[in-house]
Amino acid sequence: MPHRSGSTDLAPHRPALIALLRAAVVLPTLDRKALNKLLRTHLKETPEGRKFFSNDELVRAYTAYAGTDGLPPYDPAFVERLRLKPVRTTSGVTTLTVLTKPFPCPGECIFCPNDVRMPKSYLADEPGAQRAEQNGFDPYLQTFLRLQAYRNMGHPTAKIEVIILGGTWSFYPEGYQRWFVRRIFDALHDFGAGRDRTDEVRAALERESQFGYHPDRATLPPAPDFVDGLTFAQTYNQIVNRIYQAEMERSRQAEARLAERTPATEYATWEEVEAAHRENESAPCRCVGLVIETRPDHISVAEVLRLRRLGCTKVQIGIQSLDDTVLRLNKRGHTVAATRRAMRLLRAAGFKIHAHWMPNLYGATPLTDNRHYRNLFTDPDFCPDELKIYPCSLIGSAELMKYHAAGAWRPYTHDELLHLLADCFRATPEYCRLTRVIRDIPGTDIVAGNRITNFRQIVEDYLAVNGERPRDIRAREVRGQTIDPDSLMLDELRYPVSTGEEVFLQFVTETRTVAGFLRLSLPMGEPVTPELAGAAMIREVHVYGQALRIGESGEGRAQHAGLGTRLIERAAEIATAAGYAKLAVISAVGTREYYRRRGFADGVLYQHRPLADGLRPESGDDAEEDEAP
Ligand code: SF4
Repeated sequence: MPHRSGSTDLAPHRPALIALLRAAVVLPTLDRKALNKLLRTHLKETPEGRKFFSNDELVRAYTAYAGTDGLPPYDPAFVERLRLKPVRTTSGVTTLTVLTKPFPCPGECIFCPNDVRMPKSYLADEPGAQRAEQNGFDPYLQTFLRLQAYRNMGHPTAKIEVIILGGTWSFYPEGYQRWFVRRIFDALHDFGAGRDRTDEVRAALERESQFGYHPDRATLPPAPDFVDGLTFAQTYNQIVNRIYQAEMERSRQAEARLAERTPATEYATWEEVEAAHRENESAPCRCVGLVIETRPDHISVAEVLRLRRLGCTKVQIGIQSLDDTVLRLNKRGHTVAATRRAMRLLRAAGFKIHAHWMPNLYGATPLTDNRHYRNLFTDPDFCPDELKIYPCSLIGSAELMKYHAAGAWRPYTHDELLHLLADCFRATPEYCRLTRVIRDIPGTDIVAGNRITNFRQIVEDYLAVNGERPRDIRAREVRGQTIDPDSLMLDELRYPVSTGEEVFLQFVTETRTVAGFLRLSLPMGEPVTPELAGAAMIREVHVYGQALRIGESGEGRAQHAGLGTRLIERAAEIATAAGYAKLAVISAVGTREYYRRRGFADGVLYQHRPLADGLRPESGDDAEEDEAP
């Protein structure tokens, strides 16, 4: 089994790196967009195919080659520019993404890639996917090494939002889910304490895993074979089941032999997960958000409570279409009714809801997509908090190839997509954050469909010509500016939802730039657990500003202006006036301490504050303590 050292040997890539760096040094501004463009045009040749250089590799190459081959002498300011990743940290926390291992998915969606080297729906050429694969999809290695890379790039690591991606989370065995979450927390704790156990984990994976920690791609087929170019000889699920069968069997048996477990044994108990949570409450590297992705038909009352027990705070849910015919044609395997039910249960349980919606599916038209997008926000059953818009692209390993070949499906033209997305932007309310517009799939994987990854900018420019500006949260975020807290107004937006009423509180400037917001649910129906009886629910508190280390001051930055506390106090007033007996919060484990200091006591799955007298219990109120989660 090939063994990989921690960092890439740069020598074989010197010409490509020099070319990239020479192009970068002459740019007047090296922002994320410009850097991404350069990364796409200067790829790293490896035996497994062409890959992106990482920021870490760029910094190391610049440090080694500055002053040679036409590069100007070393300039520390340029290193800072190379390290700049503003989008990742301006929301107040550092985001860390980990992928689960390849595993069968209950969906049979015709548009979904079938790359058996990856968890379902991911492609081995995507940058995050490459990192996961290089670490054998091990949660500890992925988390620990990413934290190291962030520290090397100068990013703060005190507050981490962990996003777990891959297939359908709820379909993985529960023992695997518990292990995966626990190992992420182990890595957070080891990193915070300066302990590095990556060698121990690698050794265990090499010993016990069929593919080691760095699977040899030569031993894996890249995709299910098409017979006659159009029909699968074997499905993704069949192949993945076969190649990972031995490991799955070992996981299943682990429960019976707890004492024999190693870091590679994919099983943990609930007690171990909960112990990891408790340790994280006061750890130097805290989990301030935990996100998973799943399908609507896998959401039930039991599932939302189970996700909560794992420490989840946000769910990415693939709704894809609000048209039953389109769902059926694309073999989604669930109906719009399932989506309505899932959204209601997730909201009732306090989760932040991050929906995925796909225009241009087989059977849809720009007109029907336009109508259904509006329904997303006018129908109280939906109203997502965040949204990814992923127009369907044709990927070589997807069943959609067959429909394309038969002339039954075609990608929208540039103008059709532009006009549709412009209308989507216009219809998106202020409470929603458009996190992604266009999935960042490497152009080489796309057989047909849009290849422009900065389409958001194209839509924004198109709207700007008519004097229009998107209203969604992402378009209005403070983004690292310093602001005068006295110039902020507290704005309240109320809208009906399936569970009752939502109140979106936001601190905005005169131009509607948002410096912080809070999502308050005022539920009217049956609670999903007796713990939430009589409770209004804070689903999210978010204060913008550059992510700062805990305890570090940042004069003028929104995060230290007491905005989080002020938002919570206003939410308490609203909930009291509406007659609720208590205010609950779906806190991440790393934010429990923050809420305790604001008068919340620990419950079973939530934290609570009584509202009887409407007064805030004693707690730290000064701006320096207000590290909003
Ligand atoms: S449910 Fe998601 S991951 Fe599974 S096949 Fe469908 S799109 Fe792919």
